[in-house]
Amino acid sequence: MALLEIRNLHVALEDGTEIVKGVDLAVDLNEKHAIMGPNGSGKSTLAYALMGHPAYEITEGEILFDGADLVTMGADERARQGLFLAFQYPHAIPGVTVTSFLRTAINALRKARNGGEEDPVPIPEFRKELLAAMADLKVPRELASRYLNDGFSGGEKKRVEILQMALLKPRIAILDETDSGLDIDALKIVAKGVNSLVGPDMGAVVITHYQRILNYITPDHVHVFVDGGIVASGGSELAQQLEAEGYEAFIPAAEEVEAA
Ligand code: ADP
Ligand code: MG
Repeated sequence: MALLEIRNLHVALEDGTEIVKGVDLAVDLNEKHAIMGPNGSGKSTLAYALMGHPAYEITEGEILFDGADLVTMGADERARQGLFLAFQYPHAIPGVTVTSFLRTAINALRKARNGGEEDPVPIPEFRKELLAAMADLKVPRELASRYLNDGFSGGEKKRVEILQMALLKPRIAILDETDSGLDIDALKIVAKGVNSLVGPDMGAVVITHYQRILNYITPDHVHVFVDGGIVASGGSELAQQLEAEGYEAFIPAAEEVEAA
Protein backbone atom coordinates (compact mmCIF):
# COMPACT_ATOMS: atom_id res chain seq x y z
CA MET A 1 0.00 0.00 0.00
CA ALA A 2 1.26 3.49 -0.87
CA LEU A 3 1.82 6.08 1.88
CA LEU A 4 -1.08 8.19 0.57
CA GLU A 5 -4.00 6.24 -0.87
CA ILE A 6 -7.04 8.01 -2.24
CA ARG A 7 -9.83 5.60 -3.13
CA ASN A 8 -13.00 6.39 -5.04
CA LEU A 9 -13.05 9.86 -3.52
CA HIS A 10 -16.15 11.98 -4.04
CA VAL A 11 -16.23 15.56 -2.75
CA ALA A 12 -19.25 17.87 -2.70
CA LEU A 13 -19.78 21.55 -1.94
CA GLU A 14 -22.00 22.65 0.94
CA ASP A 15 -24.98 22.90 -1.43
CA GLY A 16 -24.50 19.26 -2.39
CA THR A 17 -22.95 19.85 -5.82
CA GLU A 18 -20.52 17.04 -6.50
CA ILE A 19 -17.18 18.39 -7.74
CA VAL A 20 -14.78 15.48 -7.32
CA LYS A 21 -16.38 12.39 -8.79
CA GLY A 22 -14.47 9.29 -7.83
CA VAL A 23 -10.70 9.76 -7.71
CA ASP A 24 -8.19 6.96 -7.16
CA LEU A 25 -4.62 8.01 -6.55
CA ALA A 26 -1.66 6.41 -4.78
CA VAL A 27 1.41 8.45 -3.88
CA ASP A 28 4.54 7.06 -2.27
CA LEU A 29 7.86 8.33 -1.00
CA ASN A 30 10.35 9.03 -3.76
CA GLU A 31 7.58 9.80 -6.28
CA LYS A 32 6.78 13.01 -8.15
CA HIS A 33 3.20 13.25 -9.34
CA ALA A 34 1.66 15.97 -11.47
CA ILE A 35 -2.10 16.44 -11.57
CA MET A 36 -2.97 18.61 -14.54
CA GLY A 37 -6.29 19.82 -15.78
CA PRO A 38 -8.24 22.79 -17.04
CA ASN A 39 -9.59 25.54 -14.79
CA GLY A 40 -12.69 24.60 -12.86
CA SER A 41 -12.16 20.85 -13.16
CA GLY A 42 -12.01 20.38 -9.38
CA LYS A 43 -8.27 20.15 -8.71
CA SER A 44 -8.29 22.61 -5.81
CA THR A 45 -11.39 20.95 -4.39
CA LEU A 46 -9.39 17.71 -4.23
CA ALA A 47 -6.55 19.55 -2.46
CA TYR A 48 -8.97 21.19 0.01
CA ALA A 49 -10.50 17.82 0.79
CA LEU A 50 -7.02 16.46 1.54
CA MET A 51 -6.48 19.43 3.83
CA GLY A 52 -9.77 18.82 5.62
CA HIS A 53 -11.31 22.18 4.68
CA PRO A 54 -14.80 22.29 6.26
CA ALA A 55 -16.48 23.67 3.11
CA TYR A 56 -15.71 20.47 1.18
CA GLU A 57 -17.56 17.35 2.17
CA ILE A 58 -16.32 13.87 1.41
CA THR A 59 -19.46 12.02 0.41
CA GLU A 60 -17.91 8.73 -0.65
CA GLY A 61 -14.59 6.94 -0.72
CA GLU A 62 -11.59 7.15 1.57
CA ILE A 63 -8.19 8.74 2.10
CA LEU A 64 -5.59 6.65 3.87
CA PHE A 65 -2.29 7.99 5.12
CA ASP A 66 0.17 5.34 6.21
CA GLY A 67 -2.79 3.00 6.41
CA ALA A 68 -4.78 5.25 8.76
CA ASP A 69 -8.01 7.09 7.96
CA LEU A 70 -7.02 10.68 7.15
CA VAL A 71 -10.59 11.93 6.94
CA THR A 72 -11.17 11.70 10.68
CA MET A 73 -7.90 13.51 11.49
CA GLY A 74 -7.81 17.23 12.24
CA ALA A 75 -5.43 19.52 10.36
CA ASP A 76 -2.85 19.29 13.18
CA GLU A 77 -2.89 15.53 13.09
CA ARG A 78 -2.50 15.51 9.31
CA ALA A 79 0.60 17.70 9.64
CA ARG A 80 1.91 15.58 12.49
CA GLN A 81 1.62 12.50 10.30
CA GLY A 82 3.74 14.26 7.69
CA LEU A 83 1.27 15.66 5.18
CA PHE A 84 2.11 19.13 3.90
CA LEU A 85 -0.22 21.30 1.88
CA ALA A 86 1.19 24.49 0.46
CA PHE A 87 -1.02 27.54 0.91
CA GLN A 88 -2.45 28.73 -2.33
CA TYR A 89 -2.76 32.32 -1.16
CA PRO A 90 -0.45 32.97 1.79
CA HIS A 91 -1.39 36.18 3.55
CA ALA A 92 0.95 39.00 4.38
CA ILE A 93 1.71 39.14 8.09
CA PRO A 94 3.11 42.57 8.87
CA GLY A 95 5.59 42.54 11.73
CA VAL A 96 6.36 38.82 11.38
CA THR A 97 9.60 38.04 9.60
CA VAL A 98 10.06 35.04 7.37
CA THR A 99 12.46 33.61 9.96
CA SER A 100 10.02 33.88 12.84
CA PHE A 101 7.16 32.53 10.68
CA LEU A 102 9.23 29.46 9.79
CA ARG A 103 10.30 28.95 13.41
CA THR A 104 6.67 29.18 14.54
CA ALA A 105 5.66 26.61 11.91
CA ILE A 106 8.39 24.21 13.06
CA ASN A 107 7.51 24.69 16.71
CA ALA A 108 3.83 24.02 16.05
CA LEU A 109 4.75 20.74 14.41
CA ARG A 110 7.20 19.82 17.19
CA LYS A 111 4.51 20.53 19.77
CA ALA A 112 2.04 18.27 17.96
CA ARG A 113 4.67 15.53 17.72
CA ASN A 114 5.43 15.93 21.41
CA GLY A 115 1.93 15.08 22.58
CA GLY A 116 0.83 18.73 22.78
CA GLU A 117 3.69 19.87 25.02
CA GLU A 118 5.84 22.77 23.83
CA ASP A 119 9.18 21.58 22.48
CA PRO A 120 10.70 24.63 20.79
CA VAL A 121 13.62 24.05 18.45
CA PRO A 122 16.84 25.39 19.98
CA ILE A 123 17.75 28.63 18.16
CA PRO A 124 21.27 27.53 17.08
CA GLU A 125 19.84 24.31 15.61
CA PHE A 126 17.08 26.24 13.83
CA ARG A 127 19.56 28.75 12.41
CA LYS A 128 21.79 25.98 11.14
CA GLU A 129 18.90 24.19 9.44
CA LEU A 130 17.48 27.39 7.99
CA LEU A 131 20.82 28.47 6.55
CA ALA A 132 21.44 25.02 5.09
CA ALA A 133 17.98 24.92 3.46
CA MET A 134 18.43 28.45 2.11
CA ALA A 135 21.77 27.52 0.62
CA ASP A 136 20.35 24.32 -0.90
CA LEU A 137 17.39 26.08 -2.45
CA LYS A 138 19.38 29.20 -3.37
CA VAL A 139 17.16 31.54 -1.39
CA PRO A 140 18.80 34.94 -0.91
CA ARG A 141 19.80 35.58 2.72
CA GLU A 142 18.02 38.93 2.87
CA LEU A 143 14.60 37.28 2.36
CA ALA A 144 14.77 35.73 5.85
CA SER A 145 14.65 39.05 7.64
CA ARG A 146 11.81 40.55 5.61
CA TYR A 147 8.19 40.63 6.80
CA LEU A 148 6.22 37.65 5.55
CA ASN A 149 4.70 38.22 2.12
CA ASP A 150 4.72 41.97 2.63
CA GLY A 151 5.18 43.19 -0.94
CA PHE A 152 6.60 39.83 -1.98
CA SER A 153 6.70 38.90 -5.65
CA GLY A 154 5.11 35.61 -6.71
CA GLY A 155 8.59 34.10 -6.85
CA GLU A 156 9.45 35.26 -3.33
CA LYS A 157 6.24 33.77 -1.94
CA LYS A 158 7.09 30.49 -3.61
CA ARG A 159 10.60 30.56 -2.12
CA VAL A 160 9.15 30.87 1.37
CA GLU A 161 6.67 28.07 0.68
CA ILE A 162 9.42 25.74 -0.56
CA LEU A 163 11.63 26.75 2.37
CA GLN A 164 8.80 25.88 4.73
CA MET A 165 8.46 22.52 3.03
CA ALA A 166 12.21 21.87 3.34
CA LEU A 167 12.21 22.68 7.05
CA LEU A 168 9.06 20.79 8.00
CA LYS A 169 10.29 17.69 6.16
CA PRO A 170 6.86 16.26 5.32
CA ARG A 171 6.51 12.74 3.98
CA ILE A 172 4.00 13.78 1.35
CA ALA A 173 3.78 17.35 0.04
CA ILE A 174 0.83 18.57 -2.00
CA LEU A 175 1.36 21.81 -3.90
CA ASP A 176 -1.71 23.37 -5.46
CA GLU A 177 -0.45 26.00 -7.83
CA THR A 178 -2.55 29.01 -8.61
CA ASP A 179 -3.66 29.32 -12.17
CA SER A 180 -3.30 33.06 -12.25
CA GLY A 181 -0.27 35.10 -11.40
CA LEU A 182 2.09 32.18 -11.52
CA ASP A 183 4.97 33.36 -13.59
CA ILE A 184 7.71 31.19 -15.00
CA ASP A 185 10.13 32.25 -12.28
CA ALA A 186 7.75 31.07 -9.58
CA LEU A 187 7.19 27.81 -11.43
CA LYS A 188 10.93 27.21 -11.68
CA ILE A 189 11.28 27.72 -7.94
CA VAL A 190 8.53 25.22 -7.18
CA ALA A 191 10.01 22.75 -9.65
CA LYS A 192 13.51 23.11 -8.24
CA GLY A 193 12.21 22.67 -4.70
CA VAL A 194 10.23 19.58 -5.61
CA ASN A 195 13.11 18.12 -7.62
CA SER A 196 15.58 18.60 -4.79
CA LEU A 197 13.34 17.52 -1.90
CA VAL A 198 11.64 14.44 -3.32
CA GLY A 199 13.63 11.35 -2.38
CA PRO A 200 13.56 8.37 -0.04
CA ASP A 201 11.94 10.51 2.67
CA MET A 202 9.41 12.49 0.64
CA GLY A 203 6.93 12.21 -2.19
CA ALA A 204 5.10 15.12 -3.81
CA VAL A 205 2.03 15.99 -5.85
CA VAL A 206 2.08 19.17 -7.90
CA ILE A 207 -1.37 20.31 -8.99
CA THR A 208 -1.51 22.79 -11.83
CA HIS A 209 -3.22 23.69 -15.05
CA TYR A 210 0.01 25.08 -16.33
CA GLN A 211 1.52 22.66 -18.79
CA ARG A 212 4.80 24.52 -18.94
CA ILE A 213 5.76 23.33 -15.44
CA LEU A 214 6.63 20.05 -17.14
CA ASN A 215 9.59 21.77 -18.74
CA TYR A 216 11.12 22.16 -15.28
CA ILE A 217 9.93 19.14 -13.39
CA THR A 218 10.11 15.52 -14.48
CA PRO A 219 7.18 13.81 -12.83
CA ASP A 220 7.24 10.04 -12.57
CA HIS A 221 3.46 10.08 -12.83
CA VAL A 222 1.24 12.47 -14.77
CA HIS A 223 -2.51 12.47 -14.19
CA VAL A 224 -4.91 14.31 -16.44
CA PHE A 225 -7.80 15.70 -14.41
CA VAL A 226 -11.00 16.61 -16.24
CA ASP A 227 -14.48 17.25 -14.84
CA GLY A 228 -13.83 15.95 -11.34
CA GLY A 229 -11.87 12.87 -12.21
CA ILE A 230 -8.58 11.46 -13.44
CA VAL A 231 -9.17 10.56 -17.09
CA ALA A 232 -5.65 9.42 -17.95
CA SER A 233 -2.50 8.51 -16.02
CA GLY A 234 0.92 7.81 -17.37
CA GLY A 235 4.58 8.64 -17.20
CA SER A 236 6.21 11.80 -18.41
CA GLU A 237 5.34 10.80 -22.00
CA LEU A 238 1.80 11.90 -21.13
CA ALA A 239 3.22 15.34 -20.53
CA GLN A 240 4.44 15.51 -24.12
CA GLN A 241 1.00 14.54 -25.36
CA LEU A 242 -0.56 17.25 -23.20
CA GLU A 243 1.84 19.81 -24.52
CA ALA A 244 1.13 18.85 -28.12
CA GLU A 245 -2.63 18.33 -27.93
CA GLY A 246 -3.82 20.29 -24.91
CA TYR A 247 -6.63 19.07 -22.68
CA GLU A 248 -9.16 18.82 -25.51
CA ALA A 249 -7.83 15.39 -26.46
CA PHE A 250 -8.76 14.12 -23.00
CA ILE A 251 -12.29 15.47 -22.81
CA PRO A 252 -14.63 12.56 -23.52
CA ALA A 253 -16.31 12.74 -26.93
CA ALA A 254 -19.77 12.29 -25.36
CA GLU A 255 -19.32 15.51 -23.42
CA GLU A 256 -18.28 17.39 -26.50
CA VAL A 257 -21.48 16.27 -28.17
CA GLU A 258 -23.50 17.26 -25.12
CA ALA A 259 -21.81 20.64 -24.98
CA ALA A 260 -22.42 21.29 -28.67
P1 ADP B 1 -9.72 23.96 -10.31
O1 ADP B 1 -8.82 24.06 -9.12
O2 ADP B 1 -9.50 22.74 -11.13
O3 ADP B 1 -9.68 25.19 -11.14
P2 ADP B 1 -11.85 24.12 -8.35
O4 ADP B 1 -11.76 22.92 -7.49
O5 ADP B 1 -11.31 25.39 -7.80
O6 ADP B 1 -11.23 23.80 -9.78
O7 ADP B 1 -13.38 24.38 -8.74
C1 ADP B 1 -14.19 23.38 -9.32
C2 ADP B 1 -15.62 23.88 -9.34
O8 ADP B 1 -16.12 23.96 -8.03
C3 ADP B 1 -15.77 25.26 -9.95
O9 ADP B 1 -16.98 25.28 -10.66
C4 ADP B 1 -15.85 26.15 -8.73
O10 ADP B 1 -16.58 27.32 -8.99
C5 ADP B 1 -16.56 25.27 -7.74
N1 ADP B 1 -16.20 25.58 -6.36
C6 ADP B 1 -15.07 25.20 -5.73
N2 ADP B 1 -15.06 25.63 -4.46
C7 ADP B 1 -16.22 26.30 -4.27
C8 ADP B 1 -16.80 26.98 -3.17
N3 ADP B 1 -16.20 27.04 -1.96
N4 ADP B 1 -18.01 27.54 -3.33
C9 ADP B 1 -18.64 27.47 -4.53
N5 ADP B 1 -18.15 26.85 -5.62
C10 ADP B 1 -16.95 26.27 -5.51
MG1 MG C 1 -7.35 25.43 -8.53
